[in-house]
Amino acid sequence: MSMTGQVHVKKGQYKIKGDFHHLEFGQPIRLADDNWRLAGITNPRQLTHIHSYGGEAIFFENLSKGKLMATRCDNKKCETKGSIYQPFRIHCPDCLGKNTVIDMTDIAKKTAKIHTFMVCERSGAFNLLDKPIKFINIEFDGVCTILFSYLAVGEPKMGMRVVPIFQKLDPTYTILDMAWVPKGTKENQLPKGFSF
Ligand SMILES: [Zn+2]
Repeated sequence: MSMTGQVHVKKGQYKIKGDFHHLEFGQPIRLADDNWRLAGITNPRQLTHIHSYGGEAIFFENLSKGKLMATRCDNKKCETKGSIYQPFRIHCPDCLGKNTVIDMTDIAKKTAKIHTFMVCERSGAFNLLDKPIKFINIEFDGVCTILFSYLAVGEPKMGMRVVPIFQKLDPTYTILDMAWVPKGTKENQLPKGFSF
């Protein structure tokens, strides 16, 4: 009986349970121009990768609770002390000190606006977003970096005020748990599982 691989950490060690790779039989590859002679086989392989979030775990945990976490350099000796980083940076790029984690949900709700955007009609492998994807760059008051995300409702415009929405009902614990909508969007217009 197979069971999807599951992982937890206890006393600093990974504890794994279930199957992390699945063997499947492939299909023959044949030569169409040579009487369909056998040339090889396909080797389908499915594996479960254990991906550690490290210091960013708190960011993803909080998305599932409807909170947007950022970081701030509080190092007194740093020339850029007080800089707030969104996306979440564990370390300050200037002094390389460890940043302080802060909750910037309110700043995002009150000041987020579209810096620029691009609309993609096609996407890469494993894309889960509906197309066209409206990628947006978001700026916030008092934050020195710009966040890359997507607009889930409506059409993007430069300078448009947007607010974050979160997948709290069925979180994936990935960046897909957060999206943005124009300010004033009603709760019933949000994608399934998302709320403010
Ligand atoms: Zn610093």
